[in-house]
Amino acid sequence: MWKTEKNRPYLITGPCSAESEEQLNTIANQLVEDHLVDMLRAGIWKPRTRPGSFEGLGEKALPWLSAISTRLNLPVCIEVANSSHVELALKNNITNFWIGARTTVNPFYVQEIADALVGTNASVLVKNPIHPDIELWTGAVERFQKVSGEEVGAIHRGFSSLQTSKYRNIPRWEIPIELKRRFPELFIMCDASHIAGDRNLIAEVAQKSIDLGITGLMIETHPNPDQALSDAKQQVTSQSLGLIIKQLVLKSSSAGSQVFIDQLEELRAQIDKIDEDILQAISSRLELTKEIGSYKKDNNVTVFQLERWNEILQTRGLTGDRLHLRKEFIHRLYETIHSESIRIQTEVIENDLAS
Ligand code: PEP
Ligand code: MN
Repeated sequence: MWKTEKNRPYLITGPCSAESEEQLNTIANQLVEDHLVDMLRAGIWKPRTRPGSFEGLGEKALPWLSAISTRLNLPVCIEVANSSHVELALKNNITNFWIGARTTVNPFYVQEIADALVGTNASVLVKNPIHPDIELWTGAVERFQKVSGEEVGAIHRGFSSLQTSKYRNIPRWEIPIELKRRFPELFIMCDASHIAGDRNLIAEVAQKSIDLGITGLMIETHPNPDQALSDAKQQVTSQSLGLIIKQLVLKSSSAGSQVFIDQLEELRAQIDKIDEDILQAISSRLELTKEIGSYKKDNNVTVFQLERWNEILQTRGLTGDRLHLRKEFIHRLYETIHSESIRIQTEVIENDLAS
């Protein structure tokens, strides 16, 4: 499952929504002819934010997809959001599913779908939940792994946010990376279309995912993207997709040449040493924190001192500037260190009180 012989990432392509038998046949034929599809996607039941938008053709599109799968010898996948979707799909010999972002948020739905898959040989790709909650994503993967074993993968589609961003859904790349750390064997792909939200941004999102070692791409494709009934702005023709894929610079996670490996090892050894020094320094800093905690206690002073905190942020920000470190990074770093200091000081004071 999810492996390709071709010299490009594994591709799940096809329209956001199935709109007609003709539309599905046209795009499937084009994609196969252009070698741009390993699994065809099409939304049948569309979860729309507001009522009144196109909500998909439903059940009647299932036999069309099934016929395409047979005719072109091509796996197809659809989104399922409840157990009756699963049952209808299985009746039409469709056995590859993805779980949408709006479904992953709800463990009840996830469990209902997982239960419907018991005893089938279905494959499931779990999209991240709409908001950046790694635990929900992890939980959904675990629920499906219990019933579908190795036929479970994940799709990173970015996260809804009030933060302004040029993307429709902010990528927060550290989250799929954390998922990979938790499930080293899990196949993870990037839904560059739903992250980008704009067809002109798909290439850069796809490249970024490849740079991070994500080995599959989901990209929405349509014979006539501007006329698409859903997600028109982010869909591309097979021809445009060809250009996007051709321009990707592929990376491998392990290097071939011995010289490269040696150099990488040398740099990593230097980093290991620096990390050791950083942790030593943090440990010494937190030791001093304990002393300050007792001192504050003896003098009846509050643990949190706003003035001191502002001064730390300001001076460390300036040092950061001098060292070409981003303000935002310094801020986050010191928030983490400072909250640990406060935790330790509070503990010191509480222990003193208890003794
Ligand atoms: C889709 O893939 O068309 C879709 C609705 O995706 P998401 O669940 O990521 O919003
Ligand atoms: Mn879509």
